[in-house]
Amino acid sequence: MKPLGPIPAGYETLRGELAIGGKMASELVAEAGGTPCFVYSRSHIDRRVADLRAAMPARLGINYAVKANPFPPVIAHMAGLVDGFDIASAGELALVQAAGIDPARVSFAGPGKRDEEIEAAIGAGVTLNCESEGEARRALAIGERLGVAPLIAIRVNPDFELKGSGMKMGGGAKPFGVDAERVPALAREVIGAGAQWRGLHIFTGSQALSADAIIEAQANVLALASRLATGIGRPLPKLNMGGGFGIPYFHGDGPLDIAAIGSALEEEFSSLPEKLASTDLCIELGRYLVGEAGVYLTRIVDRKQSHGVTYLVTDGGLHHQLAASGNFGTVVRRNYPLAIASRYEATPDEEVNVVGCLCTPLDRLADQAQLPYADVGDLVAVFCAGAYGASASPASFLGHGPAAELLV
Ligand SMILES: *Cc1c(COP(=O)(O)O)cnc(C)c1O
Repeated sequence: MKPLGPIPAGYETLRGELAIGGKMASELVAEAGGTPCFVYSRSHIDRRVADLRAAMPARLGINYAVKANPFPPVIAHMAGLVDGFDIASAGELALVQAAGIDPARVSFAGPGKRDEEIEAAIGAGVTLNCESEGEARRALAIGERLGVAPLIAIRVNPDFELKGSGMKMGGGAKPFGVDAERVPALAREVIGAGAQWRGLHIFTGSQALSADAIIEAQANVLALASRLATGIGRPLPKLNMGGGFGIPYFHGDGPLDIAAIGSALEEEFSSLPEKLASTDLCIELGRYLVGEAGVYLTRIVDRKQSHGVTYLVTDGGLHHQLAASGNFGTVVRRNYPLAIASRYEATPDEEVNVVGCLCTPLDRLADQAQLPYADVGDLVAVFCAGAYGASASPASFLGHGPAAELLV
């Protein structure tokens, strides 16, 4: 037996089935037009943002990293909840524009921005978080050609990282950001060239579940930003402090202690150095805001035995759930939270492997899981599907095509 990850709080039961927002899984599947489908819950997202606001200092802006879930109705819903949007491509720029989001709320990070993307961003009036000297100079040249002073921030490659973070993106050589010691010179160059100076972006990592690690990283970020602002020689207009707030995916993971992070930040904010005294401060979060608000529903199409092992074969799989299958940045595969949605209250009484419909041994949704008896026609729910699901999986692989998505 291998344990399943913890099912996030806030899911209900209705007539024996998993229910979201007062609707049974089978009703949601019908609404989505069939299986497989992703269902995202507005009320889960709302509660998450409200709890976070309550825990964080009022001064702290909360940005949404669109990469986590770019489903247009989700972006539109987030527009009323968060302060800013972080995008990482011209494609994501088009999505926030289609949602009617004020470009003043949008910043564009990401290495390898093409000239057309920089031009689109400058034309739209969004802030460019420049990832290198070369990119900043291209932005200045494009701004000059367009006759527009570009809004420029510099992404810093910090000399420390978020400890215990799932995906490390700072500390040492990195394709992201400008090495900290070279930032003041570049900032002075950008300001001298007439750009609208928008400050710094310091992202230290992702998917941390330790409040202490995040508190330490945030203190390091504030200290580094203060040092850099002194080197630049003027107060910092804006500081994106990064994010890294994780969610529990696996057995043994516990929820992040946001109260501890909030009180540590409150303390930091009460004694900010002069160069940060009037800085616009924010964090940027993806999975923490939306990850636990989504469920992937797939139907069992076959139940079979092989050498004494029971396989439940579903009509979904890694082409929609690369992360849950264990193939998106994981070293050792562990089970995500998963349940038989159509027998949500039944007692687990057998050990099964739940697999997808792709003809590859990589397509696994649960290994040696203890679940209630389920058969052809039953619905399987994979939780924590609100982030890095549909858009972070190879939907074209093997030709099954994308899953439907639904915001309820
Ligand atoms: C991916 C990414 C995020 C979002 O990460 P989550 O783990 O989903 O919160 C935020 N900022 C940057 C720069 C990123 O690359």
